[in-house]
Amino acid sequence: MAQGLVTMSYISASILFILSLSGLSRQDTSRRGNYFGMLGMAIAIVATVFGGHVTAFGILAGALLIGGSIGAFAAARVEMTQMPELVALMHSLVGMAAVLVGYASFLDHNSTLVGVEKTIHELEIYIGVFIGAVTFSGSVIAFGKLCGKVTGKPVLLPARHWLNLALFVATFILGRQFLANAEAGDALTPLLIMTGIALVFGVHMVMAIGGADMPVVVSMLNSYSGWAAAATGFMLSNDLLIVTGALVGSSGAILSYIMCRAMNRHFLSVIAGGFGTAGGGEAAEIEGEVQPIEAEETAQLLRESKNIVIIPGYGMAVAQAQHTVNEITKLLVGQGKKVRFAIHPVAGRMPGHMNVLLAEAKVPYDIVLEMDEINDDFPEVDVSIVIGANDIVNPSALNDPNSPIAGMPVLECWKGGTTIVMKRSMASGYAGVGNPLFVLENTRMLFGDANDRLQALLKALQA
Ligand code: NDP
Repeated sequence: MAQGLVTMSYISASILFILSLSGLSRQDTSRRGNYFGMLGMAIAIVATVFGGHVTAFGILAGALLIGGSIGAFAAARVEMTQMPELVALMHSLVGMAAVLVGYASFLDHNSTLVGVEKTIHELEIYIGVFIGAVTFSGSVIAFGKLCGKVTGKPVLLPARHWLNLALFVATFILGRQFLANAEAGDALTPLLIMTGIALVFGVHMVMAIGGADMPVVVSMLNSYSGWAAAATGFMLSNDLLIVTGALVGSSGAILSYIMCRAMNRHFLSVIAGGFGTAGGGEAAEIEGEVQPIEAEETAQLLRESKNIVIIPGYGMAVAQAQHTVNEITKLLVGQGKKVRFAIHPVAGRMPGHMNVLLAEAKVPYDIVLEMDEINDDFPEVDVSIVIGANDIVNPSALNDPNSPIAGMPVLECWKGGTTIVMKRSMASGYAGVGNPLFVLENTRMLFGDANDRLQALLKALQA
């Protein structure tokens, strides 16, 4: 393929990636955004493979076949509730790729670079391996935390900030040694030690993060994986990889910033790791009497209401209840009631989780509102139905300064008429803290699997 054509293809792919990101920023254009992204990636792969740098087509075809099959198999089998774990694993692979490319570039003795160009290339290798290793080990820990194999509570080592500082200083000193020894051919040792330090740093950074703050870490690691890809692009002198990595890195950083603001956390403390200990003390004990309710009584309550808000959470995803929710919504709207959905920025287990489920069930976009758009309306709401949500409706985030989720804005449904909470038991949510909402005077607990209970509610409403 002529070089001009490759450049044209890279520019087209970059434009398609930008269109893809802008499409993904709104629900009604997100499908189109995905198509742009797929087309851009297809163009990028064809242009890279046939761009003149690849000679071992057989090996590449084999690797594409094996890697593509594993990816397709994993994506087809994964449950919607396991999506965040899959994403964390994917991030770890991007990090690992950056480390491997870094070592391959370093060990490549055919390089013709000399002088300043060679030093710059070595610096790219050092930084690329560092970012890649942090992304790899951090994402593996995030995967463990998301699937419950690693504790969701923050693990805080004594003097952890000093430890982080020491790791950074050591990385810097090793970097100088690496560059100084590169000529002499003895730079492998500092590179290996730095890789070990970066792996420890990634583990330490994510281990120190508490349950409810995990979403910010997931988007932060997404950003790191973008920068790792950009670093790989520098090492391979591939412009498209640099652009794509920078797009992922900066959009991930913007998403992290938005989530930090939504959760009232400081952006810089997330990048440095070791936050998530908002309250620091023991959360208050929850005392009071639970008032259970049945589907028939709930249906009666809804018949008498005009203004209804539905708050979906992780349990709706587990129960796959979104389609039944849509049926109930259609029925209530048909009876002239005002029905809206309230979406918390960290509901579920990945950014936009609830929006994706509701879009899948074809709930109209215009009745799906963000937390900021609806939180002030709760005093006028007759009934709020909380479906498998817990942390995002926990009043202790606002009232209990000792709570691990203190300071996190939540959906203030208790300010409305009645709150119906659907869940299977009194178990806590992802953050592992008790929820005083369940024992409030105007709360009724509708126990059971969310989909079962919603089916019963639908039947009762139709009766
Ligand atoms: P939570 O995890 O706080 O609570 C979910 C509740 O759903 C549980 O208390 C559980 O109670 C209930 N549940 C589970 N299965 C079912 C079922 N089949 N039927 C009915 N109820 C069920 O979820 P939220 O959405 O309220 O909050 C999200 C949490 O996840 C936050 O802490 C957030 O920080 C964290 N997180 C979010 C990420 C994101 O990007 N959105 C990423 C990582 C973490 P029971 O067992 O009694 O049924």
